[in-house]
Amino acid sequence: MIRLSKSCIGERELAAVSRVLSNSFLGMGPEVASFETELAAFIGVPEIVCVNTGTSAIHLALQAIGVGPGDEVLAPSLTYVATFQAISATGAKAVACDVDEAHLTLDVEDAKKRISSKTKAIVFVHYASCAGTLDAIYQLAREYNLRVIEDAAHAFGCKHQNKLIGSFGDITCFSFDGIKNITSGEGGAISTRDQAVIQKIKAARTLGVQAKENDFDVQAQGWRYHMSDLFAAIGREQLKRLYTELGPRRVLLAKRYQEQLARLMHLPQLTLPLHEIIPHIYPIRVHREKRDELREALRVAQIQTGLHYKPNHLLSYYRSETPLPVTEALYQELLTLPLHPDINIEEQDRIIEVVQQCLRSP
Ligand SMILES: *Cc1c(COP(=O)(O)O)cnc(C)c1O
Repeated sequence: MIRLSKSCIGERELAAVSRVLSNSFLGMGPEVASFETELAAFIGVPEIVCVNTGTSAIHLALQAIGVGPGDEVLAPSLTYVATFQAISATGAKAVACDVDEAHLTLDVEDAKKRISSKTKAIVFVHYASCAGTLDAIYQLAREYNLRVIEDAAHAFGCKHQNKLIGSFGDITCFSFDGIKNITSGEGGAISTRDQAVIQKIKAARTLGVQAKENDFDVQAQGWRYHMSDLFAAIGREQLKRLYTELGPRRVLLAKRYQEQLARLMHLPQLTLPLHEIIPHIYPIRVHREKRDELREALRVAQIQTGLHYKPNHLLSYYRSETPLPVTEALYQELLTLPLHPDINIEEQDRIIEVVQQCLRSP
């Protein structure tokens, strides 16, 4: 079985975990502090805050800018439901927007149409690690005085115009769950230069508790969202491997897909800017009549595939009647091929061969 995605854990992560276990301290302590310092140095920002998941990173970022009941937040429907859950967790309404057909990131014109007097923020998703329409979204946000939260769950270690994601935006949220570009087992992080937001998130991740000499106080709603030392120790080892091993491997595999599948494809494909990103997923677009046939052929060949994503506006909890034509068409056409650092060339050739055979046949 060739897996769609996978945690790639080595001896160094195992050693780091046993080192923390033998300290008999598993809460948020020195490992988390070191991981935060190392992440801040890596991204090039004064401070990074680590939390327990990428979803809670987005939730806390929204809460810290004052998003709550009665507010609206724009987000692409084509994203993992985590984005939508983080928005609705604040009590605000997630307003589903369409994506741009070339980049599969937020469509600026469509987002603009959905701005109302209740709109407080835009969540921009770096789909398949691409910054796509990000610059135009920042321009729109400036025009309407909106905050921007980047859901960069796919984009850790990626660049846009030679700057690392998380180094230049308003608020950027990362995920370190098991299958992301780096993992800490479970985990997430927030990068921002807004000190007020940093302070609010730091309090909110530990139930709002703020220490005061021998006392403490709570001034706002908090959550139990801190990261554990056990997880930070894994993340620290993965960070060291990102540019030497994990990243280059993902780029190499994506380049080979791009080169070997290009001629076969009938529909326009998402072009991954592999000179500046580390691709988290490899989605292709296939004619809707062929998509499920290809998925089945791959399944029979013991190759897992994925669908990124079932649009959120089609889920019962977030259902809206507003048609989002690009997103709905993509939902019939997208298929994600396996991509993770442990896939070897022979395995990838097997995948490519099944795709070639299926798409060549009438
Ligand atoms: C993984 C992911 C998240 C959530 O991260 P978790 O760490 O799993 O909570 C959010 N948005 C997108 C697009 C993701 O892929």
